[in-house]
Amino acid sequence: MTAATKLIDAIADQADYLKTVRRDIHAHPELSFEETRTADLVAGLLTEWGIPVHRGMGKTGVVGIVKNGNSSRAVGLRADMDALPIHEANHFAHASRHPGKMHACGHDGHTTMLLGAAQYLAKHRDFDGTVYLIFQPAEEHGGGAREMMRDGLFKRFPMEAVFGLHNMPGIAAGTIALSPGAVLASNNEFKLTIHGKGGHAAMPHLAIDPIPVAGQIMQAFQTIITRNKKPLETAVISVTMLNAGSTPNVIPDSCEMQGTVRAYSAETLDLIERRMREIAEQTGAVFGATVSFEFRRNYPATINHAAETEFAREVLRGMLPAERIVTQTPIMAAEDFAFMLEAVPGCYAFIGNGDGDHRLPGHGEGPCLVHNASYDFNDALLPLGASFLVELAAQWLRREGRPAA
Ligand SMILES: [Zn+2]
Ligand SMILES: [Zn+2]
Repeated sequence: MTAATKLIDAIADQADYLKTVRRDIHAHPELSFEETRTADLVAGLLTEWGIPVHRGMGKTGVVGIVKNGNSSRAVGLRADMDALPIHEANHFAHASRHPGKMHACGHDGHTTMLLGAAQYLAKHRDFDGTVYLIFQPAEEHGGGAREMMRDGLFKRFPMEAVFGLHNMPGIAAGTIALSPGAVLASNNEFKLTIHGKGGHAAMPHLAIDPIPVAGQIMQAFQTIITRNKKPLETAVISVTMLNAGSTPNVIPDSCEMQGTVRAYSAETLDLIERRMREIAEQTGAVFGATVSFEFRRNYPATINHAAETEFAREVLRGMLPAERIVTQTPIMAAEDFAFMLEAVPGCYAFIGNGDGDHRLPGHGEGPCLVHNASYDFNDALLPLGASFLVELAAQWLRREGRPAA
């Protein structure tokens, strides 16, 4: 990180402490909705710092409430707490102690950055209003953000805006990327079953073979991308599972196909779902088979609000040299903070995790991407991330109302 980076001194002084907390969480990863130790740790620290805590939203979610002054205004900061079902390939001291579970998406770092912000906000209280610290479960699987909202997160704790931060390998450490509009795609799944008629592989004329039907459907799906959606709209259809048959000389009765669909706009997603269903059902009919088609929408696209993104950028201008504030290029991965941004204005920014140089001896093979068995959050980011979260909340509450778009 460059000398020109303006951290909050009291947070920079806590760098070693935050590193210890982060590594402790990394060593004890918990899967979606099972974050009991992590939630206990978070709630315990918040309580120790004098922050009232509300627990149980979205099963294991924790909300800390830091209030100061008389203002009724409020802003939210969000971090996710869950890990992934990956067996960690690292062997350094803070590697996972839970076989088959790992903090490979850096949520250990997100939780720690928000704890760092919480500790500062509770001690210094140099703002007027309420900061809600949202520690959510189950980002990776199950939509913990949505579950907290179903349990009344924004009704019980109304807030003007909400901000979140994800670490991002491949962006230089200490650089923050953000953009208005769509930054992450929606995540959707399909499953279809082609019901044909099994028979002897040497007598196909007496059967209805579901396998060539699957081939036709799979090819035709890609024409939705190239021929049906608008060329400037971004979307992906990936067939990732194809299962049929169990022996070489038998035509199977049925064939099952599954995969994922990613898109940014709801209109494009509606079009894709409709066309996939038509292609699947009607192609089946052409060949005398019947097709059952299911489409499930998981996470919506993550769409940053323009005014809140510009506000976050302005906050960063006071902290980082211009070259360390960059535009986030949209990617087709998904993120359940999207649910929160559908309900409350806000911005999801990305903090560069660097190129992997920070990893200690004993790290595994492979590129340093998230969801990789050798991933590790970069501890050098903790003071910057925590400082940024504090500045977002404090400066938001100091402003008069919502910023203009
Ligand atoms: Zn992830
Ligand atoms: Zn993540």
